[in-house]
Amino acid sequence: MDKRHKKKLKRAAKKKKDHAIAQETKANLTKQMGMFDRIPSICSTCDKSFPKTQEAHSTWRVVVKYEKQKVWLFCPECQTQIQHVVENNNEV
Ligand SMILES: [Zn+2]
Repeated sequence: MDKRHKKKLKRAAKKKKDHAIAQETKANLTKQMGMFDRIPSICSTCDKSFPKTQEAHSTWRVVVKYEKQKVWLFCPECQTQIQHVVENNNEV
């Protein structure tokens, strides 16, 4: 096997690996998208409806618990008061 051939094989192996990573990322994304379907349309604390604006997307907070298959949505006002609740959940 000459040097050039060896290099070619190495490159092919890397390409295969990249492809595997891409597949994995896609799978993770799909899983995430599945969870995103579960995002409530109202604040989980005060029942305020989520305004579908760019601003709301950056100020409202989504908390996902994969192990519980649960998604919470919190408006900016409630985020401060849920902060400790979420942290306590993480400790359990
Ligand atoms: Zn709220």
